[in-house]
Amino acid sequence: MIQTHNVTKTYSGAEGPVHALDGVDLSIQAGDFVVVHGSSGSGKTTLLQALGGMLRPTSGTVVIQGDDIYALSTVRRGQYRKRHVGFIFQKFFLLPYLTAFDNIRLSMVLRGHRGNHKQTIEDVATRLGMGNRLGHRPSQLSVGEQQRIAVARAIVGEPQLILADEPTGNLDRKNAEVFASFLSEENQRGRTIVLVTHDESLLDLGNRTVQLRSGQISGTA
Ligand code: ADP
Ligand code: MG
Repeated sequence: MIQTHNVTKTYSGAEGPVHALDGVDLSIQAGDFVVVHGSSGSGKTTLLQALGGMLRPTSGTVVIQGDDIYALSTVRRGQYRKRHVGFIFQKFFLLPYLTAFDNIRLSMVLRGHRGNHKQTIEDVATRLGMGNRLGHRPSQLSVGEQQRIAVARAIVGEPQLILADEPTGNLDRKNAEVFASFLSEENQRGRTIVLVTHDESLLDLGNRTVQLRSGQISGTA
C-alpha cells in the first residue's frame, strides 16, 4: 500500500541542518497495523507527516497505491489525503466553538461527503461511547472524551489509512486502553494503521513494529 524509498528530511535549524529522516525505506501492506517507536526527536512525527502527504521529503519518494504522492499536484495530493487518510494527533485540534457533532460533521464535509450525516455520526460516536455527548462543546468534555471525538473525526469518512501521532500522550491509563482496543477493532475491520509513539506499552498493539533512531530505521519486528 505504501512504500518509502530512501526518504530523507533535513530541516534548517538555528544551529545548522537537522537530519530528521535519514534514508528511510519502509513498506506497509494494506491491513497492516504498524507501531513506529523511538525516543523523542527520532523523527517519528516527520515520518508520519511524510506518509500522510503533509510534508515533502528533502529526497526520496513516498509511493501510495502506485502514486508517487509528492509528484502529484498539490490539489490531487490534497484530494488523496481527504479521501483516504485519517489523522489522530496528540493535541486533538477540536474547534472549541463547535459541538462534538459539528466537529465530526465538519470532517465529513471537508472530505467531500455530501448529504446529512446524522446517522453516520451518531453510529460512530455510539461505538466510542460518546452517543450522549454529541451536543457538548470540547470545553464541556473530559480529556478522554475529547480524544474520542478526535478519533471519531478521523475515522468517520472510513479512510483506508489511519495515522496516529502519540495518540495516548494526553490520556490516563484507562482511556489509553479504551483507545487501544478501539484501534485494534478498526484494524480488524480492514483499516491500515500507522501509530507512532514513545510509549513502550503500545508495542504489542500492532502486527509489526519499526524502531526509529536518529532518523533511521534501527530495527523491525
Ligand atoms: P519525534 O516525533 O520522534 O519527536 P520529530 O520528527 O518531531 O521527532 O523531529 C525530528 C528532529 O527534527 C528533531 O531533532 C526536531 O527537533 C527536528 N525538527 C522537527 N521539526 C522541525 C522543524 N520544523 N524545524 C527544524 N527542526 C525540526
Ligand atoms: Mg513527535
